[in-house]
Amino acid sequence: MKPTSLSNFIDAIPGCTPDALSAPQAQQIILAFAEPVEGSETVPLRNALGRILAIDIVSPTNVPPHDNSAMDGYALHGNALDGAGEFELKVVGTAHAGHGYSGSVVGRECVRIMTGAIMPAGCDTVVPQEFVQSVSDASVTIAGGVVAPGDNRRLKGEDLCAGKPALHKGRIMRPADIGLLASLGIAEISVMRPIRVAIFSTGDELRAPGAVLDPGCVYDSNRFTLHGMLTRLGCEVIDLGIIEDNPASLEAALRSACRSTDAVITSGGVSDGDADYTRDVMSRFGDVMFWKIAMRPGRPMAFGTIVSDGKSACLFGLPGNPVAVMATFYFFVRPALLRMMGAAGKPSSMMRVACQSAIRKKPGRTEFQRGILSTDDSGTPQVRTTGAQGSGILRSMSEADCFLVLPDDRGNIEPGELVDVVLFEGLI
Ligand code: AMP
Ligand code: MG
Repeated sequence: MKPTSLSNFIDAIPGCTPDALSAPQAQQIILAFAEPVEGSETVPLRNALGRILAIDIVSPTNVPPHDNSAMDGYALHGNALDGAGEFELKVVGTAHAGHGYSGSVVGRECVRIMTGAIMPAGCDTVVPQEFVQSVSDASVTIAGGVVAPGDNRRLKGEDLCAGKPALHKGRIMRPADIGLLASLGIAEISVMRPIRVAIFSTGDELRAPGAVLDPGCVYDSNRFTLHGMLTRLGCEVIDLGIIEDNPASLEAALRSACRSTDAVITSGGVSDGDADYTRDVMSRFGDVMFWKIAMRPGRPMAFGTIVSDGKSACLFGLPGNPVAVMATFYFFVRPALLRMMGAAGKPSSMMRVACQSAIRKKPGRTEFQRGILSTDDSGTPQVRTTGAQGSGILRSMSEADCFLVLPDDRGNIEPGELVDVVLFEGLI
């Protein structure tokens, strides 16, 4: 259940105030307010890649549906194996994948068998082709002691067993999952509907790429990184463009975003130095708070629920600096959107590696430095930073392949110390 109001929720967390939130506290609050959206749709299996499974899938059948051979060779009964010495068996037929041997096998008989062919009646073991000493039309001589009873046979249901769970609701569908459902004979599946997310940039200094850059202006990059990150997550993106720095434009943009989307992500205009009207306008639309988070990059942030014409949307007011946008997106917005999309499981995986050089850091805030992973001479993973870590240096995100996540309690890092790293691949 979504908590009633942001301020009540924050008041109930010991030592938590909107002006000095820790990054983990902010993450906890945002997740508590993100609720799965309603609605699912049925799609052909191939179109389910990256979508979120809306139901539990129970295996309707056994995979494989019958005991079959794991190798090309000769199928026999384990009792026919003759200890250490080589032995001869009579070949009574052939079994191909899709075309089994219909007779049964007794005593010192065997069947020539191909990978995937059904095990003939009376057989439980396959001697691979390479252990065969000699072959004539009617018999085969096999080296002794090379296989044990039951070897090289794949058992019915050993991959997936009829009636057992195959995939759980909330699964983000990967290629292996799609193949797994195909192996069960499932041709279409129910996935959660995509969530709709509106984005806009705020700032009179912003110009769209392709336009003339007037003096004192910069090109708007945030809508482009946001568009990319949201697309990778599988969201439907509604791009509302650049919104001028004035209350009427901001109000109109929020109103239109709120009417047709599940979430609204803005960038810029939420820091201390910015015009006060941002607070007034955003707060007028619902339960919105302005936070100062103990993190770098990305200290100011607005978060809440906005409502217009009876429609509500989750609002993320991100700071304007391009690296701050990406860091706050990955660590706050992404987990919340995944929850709204109905995804289950851990949002990102960390690994711990040695840092190649010293890093200066003050305790009391979480830092998300941009890093490059490599291996040392012995093949052990190591990480270095991309250099200058200014929150406006977007090149640092482009050059990096991971974030170094340095938590609140850490101070300076010495060369060789272990640090937590989150890989971009899988995150981006
Ligand atoms: P603000 O948070 O609005 O004070 O902006 C902080 C810094 O980020 C300023 O230098 C802005 O020019 C820059 N900035 C804000 N929005 C964008 C954007 N969409 N693209 C690139 N830079 C931006
Ligand atoms: Mg601004």
